[in-house]
Amino acid sequence: MTDKMTSRLQVAARAVYRCEYCWLSERHTSVPFQLDHVIAEKHKGETSLDNLAYACMHCNAFKGPNIAGMDPETKDIVRLFNPRREDWKEHFHWEGPVLTASTAIGRATIAVLRINLSYRVAVRASHMQEGIF
Ligand SMILES: [Zn+2]
Repeated sequence: MTDKMTSRLQVAARAVYRCEYCWLSERHTSVPFQLDHVIAEKHKGETSLDNLAYACMHCNAFKGPNIAGMDPETKDIVRLFNPRREDWKEHFHWEGPVLTASTAIGRATIAVLRINLSYRVAVRASHMQEGIF
């Protein structure tokens, strides 16, 4: 097994095969999840377990190399949620299938990663109805 495969499996298992941003379960999607560099390589983020997160294709694609975003409430620029250093529950909570922020970091992360786009909320609502979310 290569180092790359080892780290992929380690990151996936650590995340319990769930997106570390929106909590989508990889088991219930058809597209394999990706390794997100929490601090993107363009900002000198390392490819190490300390800087990798398991992310669904939606979160990873919208996040891109971003490490900060605008808080839609205050218009301040704030850094994005860091799943390696912070507790998800300090920044987010669920209101049904809608992800709601408790902090500026949560609001900016939801906005940049577009976690509440209607089709994504619809998928979560459907998974909740099926009892798999
Ligand atoms: Zn996600």
